[in-house]
Amino acid sequence: MATAVITGSARGIGAAIAERLAKDGYNIALNDISQSCFDNNDISDRIKALGVECEIFAADVSKHDQCEDMVKKIKARFGTIDVLVNNAGITRDGLLARMSEENYDLVISVNQKSVFNMTKFTGSVMMKQRSGRIINLSSVAGVYGNAGQMNYSASKAAIIGMTKTTAKELGSRGITCNAVAPGFIDTPMTAQLSDEMKAAILGQIALKRYGQVEEIAGVVSFLASPDASYVTGQVIEISGGLSM
Ligand code: NAP
Repeated sequence: MATAVITGSARGIGAAIAERLAKDGYNIALNDISQSCFDNNDISDRIKALGVECEIFAADVSKHDQCEDMVKKIKARFGTIDVLVNNAGITRDGLLARMSEENYDLVISVNQKSVFNMTKFTGSVMMKQRSGRIINLSSVAGVYGNAGQMNYSASKAAIIGMTKTTAKELGSRGITCNAVAPGFIDTPMTAQLSDEMKAAILGQIALKRYGQVEEIAGVVSFLASPDASYVTGQVIEISGGLSM
């Protein structure tokens, strides 16, 4: 049975992607920054109830050596790694003049360097297999920019370049790499926004509602499926028409 690795999958979009790929028949390697993220959390049980194997691999994906170790463990446990979803991400918003160097560097390392780390080590496994699907979580903030998100939009724009580079470097080995760029999705990440900001955003969305995590998971499922075998290096916006 094929295996999918989803980073930052204890909750939010990552958990929904893990559950959807389990429904599609993949064994699932869950990841989050620490084992405690999975305490009081039934994601692993929900996935096992779908009849596939599931194991938690705690690692900070911004750390090169932790990613190397985790990928080795996942390969040893499941035998192959067929799908990698680079989902882990954080925000540390603030206007440019007040953004600390620490918060700039942290967001870049968690959101962007993690994609380098995980793609490097998983890509090496996939190259030997001569097949694989890599799906990266960008954001509309990476495509259009967003006031108050210099760090976040930089990391998400970089992911678009990394997606295209990965698609070009690994394509000859039968590996595709695509990105999804969500708009505003109902998760703990967007729950932090002020009511004023939420109302302003809603006014700009053609569908006049936030997206649901399952609506991101559905597109990721498509990109991992045989139907997407000739799709690579692309960025698919999932924003309810926010960016038209
Ligand atoms: P979320 O609910 O905050 O979930 C992110 C997960 O990543 C959390 O479980 C978090 O763990 C984990 N994580 C953070 N740092 C990590 C690290 N260093 N190593 C491993 N795991 C780590 O966020 P979300 O809304 O589901 O977002 C998922 C992805 O979609 C992100 O890349 C985000 O930028 C992107 N996205 C989201 C939206 C949106 O509207 N929600 C829009 C565009 C793009 P902790 O609980 O410990 O922090």
